[in-house]
Amino acid sequence: MTSTTASHAADLVAALLFILSLAGLSQHRTSRAGVVYGIAGMTLALVATVVLAAQSITAGAVTLIVVAMALGAAIGIWRARQVEMTQMPELIAVLHSFVGLAAVLVGWNSYLEVEAHGDAQKHVTADLLGIHHAEVFIGIFIGAVTFTGSIVAFLKLSARIKSRPLVLPGKNALNVAALAAFVALTVWFTISPSLGLMIAVTVLALVLGWHLVASIGGGDMPVVVSMLNSYSGWAAAAAGFLLDNNLLIVTGALVGSSGAYLSYIMCKAMNRSFISVIAGGFGIEAPSGGDEEQGEHREIQAREVAELLTQARSVVITPGYGMAVAQAQHPVAELTRRLRERGVEVRFGVHPVAGRLPGHMNVLLAEAKVPYDIVLEMDEINDDLADTSVVLVIGANDTVNPAAEEDPASPIAGMPVLKVWEAEQVVVFKRSMASGYAGVQNPLFFRENSSMLFGDAKQSVEEILHALTSDPRTQAPSEAALAR
Ligand code: NDP
Repeated sequence: MTSTTASHAADLVAALLFILSLAGLSQHRTSRAGVVYGIAGMTLALVATVVLAAQSITAGAVTLIVVAMALGAAIGIWRARQVEMTQMPELIAVLHSFVGLAAVLVGWNSYLEVEAHGDAQKHVTADLLGIHHAEVFIGIFIGAVTFTGSIVAFLKLSARIKSRPLVLPGKNALNVAALAAFVALTVWFTISPSLGLMIAVTVLALVLGWHLVASIGGGDMPVVVSMLNSYSGWAAAAAGFLLDNNLLIVTGALVGSSGAYLSYIMCKAMNRSFISVIAGGFGIEAPSGGDEEQGEHREIQAREVAELLTQARSVVITPGYGMAVAQAQHPVAELTRRLRERGVEVRFGVHPVAGRLPGHMNVLLAEAKVPYDIVLEMDEINDDLADTSVVLVIGANDTVNPAAEEDPASPIAGMPVLKVWEAEQVVVFKRSMASGYAGVQNPLFFRENSSMLFGDAKQSVEEILHALTSDPRTQAPSEAALAR
């Protein structure tokens, strides 16, 4: 077997491993195996690519590739060990921007190479030159949109810029005009390629990527992250065509299509139009409502919350991003255990986009060993909230905001939320009256049945636990519990 055949066989195995990896990652039970398949596939792909490249380049160039790979791997391991779980989406956004940038560089390199060698280039014969030019243009366009879009997503997710949507006058017309210009430039470039057109498409796509993501509001960012994931896959596939690398085409298409499907599922869960989100909030008007306060709020102390819980028949806990920041999951699990021992029914209501990652809250609660059977999805718990004595909103904000249902002009209008305000009493754990990720004030805080427990969520839950143990008023099991 020649090394070329061996390398193609390795590509095939790597592609199969990537498919197994995606299948494994789709379920809790098999996700570890999914990660292992992914690592094995990527290792095989890298080795096969370097072995194949070694046949046509100098030993010095191979050494440079290996050094670059080692350096990249070292930086990757260092960052992965440093990153907090709450920072994962921003890290992913940065990684997507690298894929986009790589596709732009591959496109430029491919154009300059063909310009330098003409149609005598080994992969591009004269009759295929037009197709090659279209590939270059499309690859650069997708890559540049992914690059700046991912950078804006990173800046928003890391709170370096505001998450509120940018609303330029005639923003939809601007996006449509940019797409029309891209199509026209592609036709022109295919017929008569030039450096000027290359610069024009790169600048156009960089600006469009920036505008598309800047126009999307905070509440829609989870969809944007998975959409950029999809774009980065298509950018990689485009680079695969230019590099004549089948594995890159297959892998890019896998990432592109699975990312697109994930975006579609998330849009459905969030009651959003898929087309509107991928087109940079197409059709969404300028939102109203900022983070100004909307009335009087009532404060409550940890001791009073402990009393309230002792008297409760049923308690629902709705965790959010603040629980992850405070790392409050362990005391929350302990509070759950204590209340259940007293006969209080305790359940969790988890919103699909609570926190900063799909499944973020489920992972934290599983880590703290909260039993799976009391952790319910939003749709499973929402109808029971009206019949609940106390809801503890621990570090959640946008996902429990009634404005999504009641204010059609709100940036989060139409997004399904946990209807915590329907419970008898609601206690909101947070540090201040600040708005949530979407930058929208929450009318829940000013409802008559709501109270604010200010402070770090972990500390507040520990104070409640302390009160449950030490305060005589919270010692007796609830009457409701005894009656059961
Ligand atoms: P939010 O981000 O809306 O609000 C979190 C709240 O936690 C804040 O109001 C903050 O208030 C509070 N908080 C922060 N730190 C602490 C702390 N140490 N102790 C107590 N409270 C704290 O949370 P949700 O989970 O309700 O909503 C998630 C938002 O993130 C949605 O808008 C979603 O679209 C978006 N998003 C989700 C992603 C996903 O995949 N799940 C990805 C990207 C974005 P204060 O500062 O006053 O304490």
